[in-house]
Parts: sequence; structure tokens; C-alpha cells
Amino acid sequence: MKRRKFLQYSGIGLAGTSIAKKITQISTEWKKSFVETSDVIVVGAGTFGVWTAYHLLNKGAKVTLLDAYGPGNSRASSGGETRLIQTDTDNEIYVKSAKRSFALWKRLEEESGRNIVLSTGRLAMSGDISYRQYALNRKEQLASLGIDNTEVLSHDEIRYRWPQIYTEDIVTAMFNDSGPSGSTLMARKGIQAVARQYENNGGSLIIAKGIPLVENGKVEGIDIGNAEALRAQYYVFACGPWLSKIFPTLLLPRLQVQRRDVLFVGTPPGDDRFSYPNLPEWSVHGSGYYGFPDIEGRGLKVAPYPDFNSFDPDIDERVVNPYQVKRAHDFARKRFPALGDQPIVESRVCQITNSIDSNFIVDQLPDSDNTWIIGGGSGHGFKHGPAIGEHAANRILGMSYDLDFSQEFKLKEEVFNSD
Ligand SMILES: Cc1cc2nc3c(=O)[nH]c(=O)nc-3n(C[C@H](O)[C@H](O)[C@H](O)COP(=O)(O)OP(=O)(O)OC[C@H]3O[C@@H](n4cnc5c(N)ncnc54)[C@H](O)[C@@H]3O)c2cc1C
Repeated sequence: MKRRKFLQYSGIGLAGTSIAKKITQISTEWKKSFVETSDVIVVGAGTFGVWTAYHLLNKGAKVTLLDAYGPGNSRASSGGETRLIQTDTDNEIYVKSAKRSFALWKRLEEESGRNIVLSTGRLAMSGDISYRQYALNRKEQLASLGIDNTEVLSHDEIRYRWPQIYTEDIVTAMFNDSGPSGSTLMARKGIQAVARQYENNGGSLIIAKGIPLVENGKVEGIDIGNAEALRAQYYVFACGPWLSKIFPTLLLPRLQVQRRDVLFVGTPPGDDRFSYPNLPEWSVHGSGYYGFPDIEGRGLKVAPYPDFNSFDPDIDERVVNPYQVKRAHDFARKRFPALGDQPIVESRVCQITNSIDSNFIVDQLPDSDNTWIIGGGSGHGFKHGPAIGEHAANRILGMSYDLDFSQEFKLKEEVFNSD
């Protein structure tokens, strides 16, 4: 296609179900040469984008991966220290995805020589005895899916195994000691390891903000600034919380971006009871808190939720809310009494991108068969990056793919209620 044909682009990106809406005339100054780069350009190197690029490359495609701030950056949802991999869900598609992803995270460890998967275990505690039946049911379901390390613990067992936790109000717990049902992934490190591996295998990574260029409602190139534009056969937008800025009409009604504050409570000097491997990843059902042991000396991670707010990933300050600092201290004081007078030693503000039904989106842009959207992590996307990237790569390249996945990850028609 001649460059003169690229007549229009969108200042903030594409606009909507009919992606031609709101696009503006391309300026004369802009009409520079388009560089024919690859078979596929992937915009966004978070867990979904970087793994998609990795698989596309391994399946023989020529790939260019763009990220505005770099893989694992502080604004990305996939940045930060740790993420949990677990299988505590009724939706067996996510169990299948977690199992496949776990295998691929482990393979990445071997390929990269980096320690990315920690067998912390996952301890889900509850003060409600009816949770015991829930845990027993989950144990049976997971066993039928080949996950046989679920233990259902009594109050005494929990207290005996982790005396550093206050358990007087805890009556039962579900514990998975390792594997896809109970491990911790090193987040930023993991993303950077995939990116490095992708580059080592011959993939191209460019640090640039990519803006879609549109002609007749179809993406025909990517503006990467400095009057440069790249062109490929397929385009993938895996831009996490930025997706609805790029496709506002289509995605603003379908994605909500909310901040989550994460605080790291210091451990007392010389005290390793709260550090991996002495404490698992932990949660208290219904309490609004979960977290991780101290890993690499960063402190015990406490994440209060739910998140009722909205957040702009580009411009909002990543400074934790004093209210969440108080919540984290109050919680730590009660649940981990030895940490009662310890300071917050690190903090972080991340964002969750919720989809309408909490399912991920892996689908083509409507009426645009050369463009794919991958996102809607909904607070549980990190772990699934490897399997979702593999599925996306198969779909993009026209290879056989998992039909359950394609059904579950469809762009839904329903929209959030705007009231
Ligand atoms: C506090 C917190 C705890 C979580 N806990 C867990 C957990 O325990 N387990 C779990 O599985 N998940 C968890 N999640 C969710 C998980 O982290 C996200 O679902 C996942 O990281 C989303 O990945 P993504 O690739 O969609 O987005 P991102 O990681 O945000 O990646 C998007 C990338 O796109 C880039 N980008 C955006 N726009 C452009 C553009 N125009 N041009 C170029 N680059 C662009 C950005 O720089 C960014 O790197 C948690 C999330 C948070 C915030």
C-alpha cells in the first residue's frame, strides 16, 4: 500500500465499534515513510503482550514489540514485585490456563536461568466454618483436574504450622503448598525475563508509544513518534489499563480501571518468621486483605481491597492513600502481632482493569480482521500471560486453538451500567 493512502489517524487512537469514527485527517507534515517491519506488531509489553510476542516469534512470525515505558515498568499492571498463581475458581477454563501457564513460567525459568516461580504456597484462611465445605468441594474439583495438593486445615493445624499468624478468630483454611495452585511469580523480573528471551530469540523490542493509524476504519500502521510509522500484516493491542484510551468508544463502556494500593510492612531485625519460605501467600476470606511473605527483604506485602475508584495510568500520582496505610497497619497489628510496631518500608500503586464479566478479552477489533485486542486482566491476569499469549498467537496466525478459550474471551456485547 502506498503511503499516500494513509490519510487518517486518530489523535487519541481509534474511536469505537466503528473504528473510523472521530479519526482526524493526517497532516502533510506527518506523511512520512512507513517502514514495513514485521508480520505482527504487538503494542504493550505487559504479561499479555510480551507473552503473545514471545509465542508469535517462536511460531515463526516476524514480530515487533512496542512499549511506551518498557517491559515491567512502574506504571504497568504487570510491574511490581509479586503475583500469585492459584486455581481457586469454579471456572475450569482458568484452571486449565493456570496449569499451562505454570508450565510455561517454569520453562522460562530454565531458558532464562532466572528464579521467577517461588513455591510459597497459598493459605486461604476463614473465620466462617461454612468455608470448610467450600474448601472440601474445591479440593475434590481440583483433584478431578489433576491438582492434588489441596489441604483443608483445622484451627489447630493452622496455629501449629504458622504460630506467627494470629488465628484465634480463624476456624479453617485451604492450603496449597506449591505448583499452579499455590506459587508466587516474580512479576517485574518475570516480564523482563520474557522480553529478554524474546529478544535473544530474534524479536525486536522498541521503547515507543504506539498510536494506531487508520484508513477506512482499519488499522494500517502504527505511529511511533518522531514522524516514524511501522506497518505489519497484523496489529495487537495489549495495552492493559490504556486500552480504553486507545479505543474509547468501544472499550470505555467495557473496561473499568481502578487503583490498588500495595504496602510492605517491615519485619523486625533478625526475625525471618514472616519471610519466604517460612510464611506462605496468605488471605483471610471476606476480610478485604491478602498478601505475600517478605520476599527479597522487601517486607510483608499487604494489599487492602476492594477498589472503589478510578485511575489514569499515565498521569495519576502513584502515592499510597494514608487511609490504606492505616488499614494495612491495623490489619498487620492484629493478624501478625509481631509486626504491630513495624513501619511501612515500601509502597506501590498499581491498577486493575476490570472487564464486564471478569473474563479476559482476546478478540478481533469489530469489523477489522487484522487487529486484535488482548486485555481485561480483571485482577487475575498476570499468571495467565503465558497461556493467553499462546492462545492469541495461535489465533492470529490461523493455527488451531482452544475453542473454550475463544468463547470465554470474546469481546462481550453487554456494557457496564453507566448510572
Ligand atoms: C495490586 C495488584 C495485584 C494483582 N495481583 C494479581 C495476582 O496475584 N495474580 C494475578 O494473576 N494477577 C494479579 N493482578 C492482575 C495482573 O497484574 C493484571 O491482570 C496484568 O498484569 C495485566 O497485564 P496487561 O498485559 O493487560 O497490562 P499491563 O501490564 O499494564 O501492560 C500494558 C503495557 O502496555 C504499555 N502501553 C500502553 N499503551 C501503550 C501504547 N500506546 N504504546 C506502547 N505501549 C503501551 C504499557 O507501558 C504497559 O507496559 C494484580 C494487579 C494489581 C494491580
